Amino acid sequence: MSEETLFTRIVDGEIPSYSVYEDDTTYAFLDANPLTPGHTLVIPKEPYERFQDVPADLAADVFAVVHALTPAVEAAVDAPASTIAINNGETAGQEVAHVHWHIIPRFEDDGTGPVHALFEYADLDEDRMASIAAAIRENE
Ligand code: AMP
Repeated sequence: MSEETLFTRIVDGEIPSYSVYEDDTTYAFLDANPLTPGHTLVIPKEPYERFQDVPADLAADVFAVVHALTPAVEAAVDAPASTIAINNGETAGQEVAHVHWHIIPRFEDDGTGPVHALFEYADLDEDRMASIAAAIRENE
């Protein structure tokens, strides 16, 4: 775990943010480059890089905040829906190496589709599906 990230500097107040929630373990603030009005980031205060690096009890704390904030964020900007996502790792587009949940309010006219629109469907036969499922079970 690195000692300092852009987001620990935000938690410490060295870099200003539009804070929306704080407790002992978790901080939430508006994204400085909002994809839609109300775009919010929720982070563990400690700078774990990826989702799987976060201890399970801390991940549960942070996710409880995501759960509580989602309706508050939607209500604040009168959004009928939201996309909740983590860019988990550089290959997935993670730019800040301090894990963060995006809560992105969604609107009828926001011109963006579901997360599925990011991908082309993978063409996998039944053997490949079965072997992937087995490999996941073995790695749990
Ligand atoms: P990701 O690409 O998932 O790592 O997302 C990083 C997010 O951090 C982007 O959506 C940025 O707009 C956001 N961001 C970068 N710097 C700041 C900042 N100083 N305050 C708030 N959000 C920021």
